[in-house]
Amino acid sequence: MKEDLIQKTAEAVLRSNKVVAFTGAGISVESGIPDFRSAGGLWERFDPAEYATIEAFHANPQKVWTMLREMGNLLESSRPNPAHTALAQLEKMGHIRSVITQNIDHLHQDAGNTRVIEYHGSHKRLICLSCGRQYEKGEVSLDTLPPLCRCTGVLKPTVVFFGEPIPWGAHLQAMEEARDCEVMLVVGTSAIVSPACDIPVMAKRGGAVVVEVNREETQLTRYVSDWILKGSAARTLQAVLDRVTGLRGS
Ligand code: NAD
Repeated sequence: MKEDLIQKTAEAVLRSNKVVAFTGAGISVESGIPDFRSAGGLWERFDPAEYATIEAFHANPQKVWTMLREMGNLLESSRPNPAHTALAQLEKMGHIRSVITQNIDHLHQDAGNTRVIEYHGSHKRLICLSCGRQYEKGEVSLDTLPPLCRCTGVLKPTVVFFGEPIPWGAHLQAMEEARDCEVMLVVGTSAIVSPACDIPVMAKRGGAVVVEVNREETQLTRYVSDWILKGSAARTLQAVLDRVTGLRGS
């Protein structure tokens, strides 16, 4: 059954040069970065409801930065896995036009994708909550928390916390890509974080074929996705890449 669906996915990708990937935390699980909802890792010690809200950050930036520093160390030491590299290869072959990611880990760029829309920001840049000045993470010492701006304001990663708006530019670009794509590969997201969960819906309304890659079904599976490739993102996307490569050669 899955073989048929891999074939169908590869044929859809091959027919189009307007394929957009929309990714979530699940694509980076095989790089050793835990997602929010599966058991294990960072989020069992740091409840996102307690640590990942903007209210929590304002109330106690030092406490939230303790988690951010540990998470940052994990992200810095993580490398792209075969799911990321398959998407990068599909871009090189001229099929993937852009990647819209909810992830903050920079692994799509590290794998080689060049058009990446970071819908929820990045852990690599910091912004001052008082004057708005931005810094690269490497420019700032995290020995004393929270790190401060030259103006003495508190610095926060550009990561979008629960309760914060999506960066306007990223939102507009994501909407445009979703409206205009012909195939959307929705990889490793539970699609319950809003407004990101509207992106596949918008693609579907624009007439795109929506293909999910996930270890389990989500709320998209029944109402939005044309089909789901159930299983590991790394193995599944490599299988799609292999099939696309094979079909191009035949
Ligand atoms: P989520 O944790 O809600 O859902 C992850 C999804 O990925 C689940 O549906 C799960 O079944 C699936 N999944 C897990 N491992 C998989 C694998 N190996 N192969 C295929 N599917 C797999 O994540 P979300 O929907 O992205 O929403 C959580 C929010 O937190 C997002 O903003 C997210 O990006 C952010 N977050 C980011 C990171 C990161 O940057 N790597 C890590 C944790 C959370």
